[in-house]
Amino acid sequence: MRTQGTQLSLFQTPGSSDPFAVRVSERARRLTARVHVGGRVEIVVPMGVNPRMVRDFVRRFTPWIDRKVEAMRCAAEPAVEVPPEVRLAFSEERFAVEWRPAAKRVLAERGGRLELLAPDASGARGLLQGWLKQAAAARLAPALLELAARLDIRVGRVAIRRQRTRWGSCSTRGTVSLNCSLLFLHPDVVRYLFVHELAHTRHMNHSASFWRLVERIEPDYRRLDRELLAGWRTVPAWVFTS
Ligand SMILES: [Zn+2]
Repeated sequence: MRTQGTQLSLFQTPGSSDPFAVRVSERARRLTARVHVGGRVEIVVPMGVNPRMVRDFVRRFTPWIDRKVEAMRCAAEPAVEVPPEVRLAFSEERFAVEWRPAAKRVLAERGGRLELLAPDASGARGLLQGWLKQAAAARLAPALLELAARLDIRVGRVAIRRQRTRWGSCSTRGTVSLNCSLLFLHPDVVRYLFVHELAHTRHMNHSASFWRLVERIEPDYRRLDRELLAGWRTVPAWVFTS
């Protein structure tokens, strides 16, 4: 559609805080309001219609537009909550995410692509969350065990969890739990978390002896501890959105 320039003025409608994009169209025969997915409103105006007529039109249709905007916002919400890609800083990998709505729930990893079939965005996120835990088991657990072997520290079991509040933990039985979101952090920060948890197998506290052991293995532990704490900001929201 050819449009008369792209000079779009923004109108503020009474009773609504939403600005409307106004597009003058050569082909339009009458005033129309369009509400796009996500809630963007566009008023299409034929040539020669003056601004007052546009304002009157918008005022008359404001209740309809508001209802439509509400509906289109809801329709758009799930779509933006499935990420277009997943980047793992730990392993410097990136995966393009392709979600297609379907009754069943299937995730297939093909090369650098994650192909999802799920009925809705929530289902798609659930598949991604499951995949993240598997990806963490495959990447983090061997790295932890390798470091433990080099330090001559025995680890009973490695568990992968999806938690909001902690990066890792260590039980008295020697089970080390790792947060799958560690995959979003850089390897040196993740290695520090490993060192921290492995040191807990010797000292189940944060005593001076604990920190001496940590420092012996990782002299730069203070900086890395701060980075680990700041790391929560790098975890994408979809990880915790059900
Ligand atoms: Zn600790």
